[in-house]
Amino acid sequence: MTLKATVIPVTPLSQNCTIFWCDETNKGVVVDPGGDVPLILEAIEKIGVDIEKILLTHGHFDHVGGAMDLAENLSVPIIGPHKDDEFITTQVEAAQKMYDLSGGKDVAGNTWLDEGDQIQFGNVTLDIVHTPGHTPGHIVFYNQEANVAQVGDVLFKGGIGRTDFPRGDLPTLENSITQKLWPLGNDITFIPGHGPTSTFGAERATNPFVGDAVLKS
Ligand SMILES: [Zn+2]
Ligand SMILES: [Zn+2]
Repeated sequence: MTLKATVIPVTPLSQNCTIFWCDETNKGVVVDPGGDVPLILEAIEKIGVDIEKILLTHGHFDHVGGAMDLAENLSVPIIGPHKDDEFITTQVEAAQKMYDLSGGKDVAGNTWLDEGDQIQFGNVTLDIVHTPGHTPGHIVFYNQEANVAQVGDVLFKGGIGRTDFPRGDLPTLENSITQKLWPLGNDITFIPGHGPTSTFGAERATNPFVGDAVLKS
């Protein structure tokens, strides 16, 4: 096994910022540094990992708010999400005000990702799946070898992402989950954007929104 992961809940919205690293080379990435950058830096130091990139699943401020500060601090690039989220990644400062929060910064200078792209660090490869519905430019990071996915706000243990935000769409989200995620396999353990981890198989069996029994009836 080469992929390791640790989850750090950040911001008042308890967003799961994830550090992934290769235990053979100690090279790693930070996914969704939504805020609380000092906490993230502390975790990086504790693990002793050499962070090469910051990755973003989608544009919501609780997932991207700390990206600019962390990128500056570590001198690393910001990669993702899909370009269809540009209307959100550039409005972080305005969006957080609606929640009476501050400190997050608009994302600039990032590289966009698309379906089929891959991210490499050390001996680990992450595959990119484009999963619109919660936001139009939402992507999922998936590691085949370890059967692990970071799915952001697409899917939760016992739930699915909200679709009442601008350009959210429920049928599109259901389609992303059943047509893009389920085919990756029941054994995949996923880290959602908020809350505990689960597996695709467990959600197919029990999820009240996208379980097999629900969507077949
Ligand atoms: Zn979101
Ligand atoms: Zn979120």
